[in-house]
Amino acid sequence: MKAFDLHEPTSVAEAVGLLDTLGATGKILAGGSDIVGGIMKDWVTGKGMPLPSALVDITTIPELKGIKPSGNGLSLGAATTLTEVIESADVQKTIPLLSDAAKTIASPLIRNFGTLGGNINQRPRCWFFRGEDFNCYKKGGDFCYSVTGDNTYHAIIGGELCYIVHPSDTATALLALNASARIAGPSGARDVPFDSYFHGPREDVLTENILKPNELLTEVTVPAPAAGTKMAWTKLKDRQVYDFAVVSVAVAFTVDGSGSWSDGRIVLGGVAPVPYRAAVVESALKGKDVRSTAKQAAAQIRTVARPMSLNGYKVDVAQNLIERTLLQALGQ
Ligand SMILES: Cc1cc2nc3c(=O)[nH]c(=O)nc-3n(C[C@H](O)[C@H](O)[C@H](O)COP(=O)(O)OP(=O)(O)OC[C@H]3O[C@@H](n4cnc5c(N)ncnc54)[C@H](O)[C@@H]3O)c2cc1C
Ligand code: SF4
Repeated sequence: MKAFDLHEPTSVAEAVGLLDTLGATGKILAGGSDIVGGIMKDWVTGKGMPLPSALVDITTIPELKGIKPSGNGLSLGAATTLTEVIESADVQKTIPLLSDAAKTIASPLIRNFGTLGGNINQRPRCWFFRGEDFNCYKKGGDFCYSVTGDNTYHAIIGGELCYIVHPSDTATALLALNASARIAGPSGARDVPFDSYFHGPREDVLTENILKPNELLTEVTVPAPAAGTKMAWTKLKDRQVYDFAVVSVAVAFTVDGSGSWSDGRIVLGGVAPVPYRAAVVESALKGKDVRSTAKQAAAQIRTVARPMSLNGYKVDVAQNLIERTLLQALGQ
């Protein structure tokens, strides 16, 4: 692994100053399970992705840790560990969808030091991207190896140029919960809904989100769900011990007195370069009885799916998992 300088700031302002000075040579370090244990250890590098020569450890910043009430919802510091998210009584009580999703991430060991901010900002798992020998678009190269290679786990929606699937389970749940990100940078802080946080390869193939090199995610805020909100999380993975999602589904919605869809979100992980909001399914449910319409509405995902040569099976999985998750939220 390439040697690096380690910086340990104790405030957000100091971290931003360091990132601003270091530019492309510096990167944020949280738990390190991906940036050190993956990207740097495995030499995931290319023309558009230089390995950092300095890491800015943000777990030394006290204000980035912990979960507290915020407005009528919850605020979660970016350096809060996944285990702390899972074990939080406030999260379990108000937004159990997030703890249910976090419980399915990796192993207990990784959850004990992996952070919420690191999970949201982790790099994709495409096996060509992670392989030293493949200089693909995402590393600044001029080819996508998944188009002619093994694309079993790649995108079925929204892939062009690059066909990664976004790897973060917490991001999928947070988008369903209508959460926002607080971002700190040299010109201060800004709040961005997760609807606008992630971007696909057309916007910028080298990155997965809007963060600039001198910015960091400091906090996630989740509004309190409306009374009676129904939520559920399901995730299909190949290896049951721990694995990334083949497809995951997060739902959070309200129904009226007769059981018809009032408002809500259905978000899929493992299918697109961003956590994917299934607007076609939501539209098909609008004003309809959720229980009796779930199957037909879930089938709408077929209208937006464009599978690759080896991953057509994911369309069936997505359709079935959407239906199952809706029924699970209704207590079926
Ligand atoms: C074996 C294994 C299995 C896994 N399975 C799953 C799974 O099933 N589901 C899933 O969702 N994840 C899974 N992961 C990913 C794992 O959850 C992440 O590696 C972990 O959450 C990242 O947290 P970290 O604090 O260690 O991040 P780091 O490795 O420290 O950082 C990850 C990336 O995010 C950036 N970053 C970190 N914090 C911030 C911040 N606050 N603002 C901006 N950028 C930041 C870093 O620069 C780096 O690029 C798995 C990982 C492993 C190794
Ligand atoms: S899908 Fe993206 S990350 Fe994977 S090989 Fe193609 S360009 Fe690279």
